[in-house]
Amino acid sequence: MELKLKNISMDITTHEKKVKLLILGSGPAGLAAALYAARANLDPVVLTGMELGGQVSLTSTVENYPGFPDGIGGQELVDLFQKQAERFGAHVEFDSAVEANLTQYPFKIASYNYVYLTDSLIIATGAQATHLDVPGESEFTGRGVSYCATCDGWFFKEKDVVVIGGGDSAIEESLFLTRYAKSITIVHRRDNLRAGKILQQRVFEHPKIKFIWNSVITEIIGEKNVEKVRLLNLETEETRDLVTDGIFIFIGHKPNTKIFENSIELDERGYIKTGAQYETNIKGVYVAGEAGDPFFRQVITSAGMGAAAAMKAIHFIQELEENQAVNDK
Ligand code: NAP
Repeated sequence: MELKLKNISMDITTHEKKVKLLILGSGPAGLAAALYAARANLDPVVLTGMELGGQVSLTSTVENYPGFPDGIGGQELVDLFQKQAERFGAHVEFDSAVEANLTQYPFKIASYNYVYLTDSLIIATGAQATHLDVPGESEFTGRGVSYCATCDGWFFKEKDVVVIGGGDSAIEESLFLTRYAKSITIVHRRDNLRAGKILQQRVFEHPKIKFIWNSVITEIIGEKNVEKVRLLNLETEETRDLVTDGIFIFIGHKPNTKIFENSIELDERGYIKTGAQYETNIKGVYVAGEAGDPFFRQVITSAGMGAAAAMKAIHFIQELEENQAVNDK
């Protein structure tokens, strides 16, 4: 693919916009990328996506992001990220990308409002925890229902919690929760765990953790906060209620990469394959945050990836502009 820089910075049609850098996603990765790119005078445009502020905005308090010794609300933290990026000229648009054409240059990204032509692209679309899709789940998210033990475990000090899932995440997070919770009941839909053997050994030996096998949650019940969960035993078909202060759901994550499945190399789980410097298989396209990170999934690691991806994009655009200047002579 021959890369040519277009000198157009105004609307090409009423629906087309030419930008130097388009950033998809408004979580810590996207907004950190926007901050760095804005400070390099790239006038980056950030499309927020459907989940404003990304997953962290669903977290009541973030206590593991440096600089906030008393913790900070998840929403408040991303609001500050946004404010800081905008101060240097980032444009945050309440819009989502719906289609990507990365075989042409500049890259073409269609959103609900515009067709963007962009010299460089940072994909920071994040991931979503898979939901159980049972009554009460969305109603009690942030009020007893959580998808992140690292973020929310502290709030369940000396409380009884239920964990759903039997994979590595459910077991690792259950072990993490033992630091805080009084008891952890893991509810799993089968009678053996998917998690690795070493984790299994640790979890079976832990005095605070017990199991309910062959069972699923059919409803989450409470007034203001979670008070109990309704369990269905899949073998006996018996239903019963279990009193609990919280429920942690770890039944897998799904990266938000669907619009790239035909254009960018993804791994078997849908995460964007990335090199050490957050480059994708397409020159000029970078990934930051959970869309390319199934491992760390922290605000600080995502923000770090965003900054690094922006530095790569800045360098890429700079080279392009220098080549264009030489060609124009
Ligand atoms: P996972 O391995 O896909 O496990 C998901 C678990 O949730 C499974 O036990 C599954 O049950 C259960 N589940 C799925 N849908 C469900 C539903 N609707 N209702 C009830 N239960 C449901 O996901 P993960 O644990 O997040 O791990 C994802 C990947 O990251 C894996 O490759 C894992 O090895 C890796 N990982 C590694 C580490 C580590 O190495 N330390 C830590 C975390 C994650 P079934 O078992 O019956 O399918």
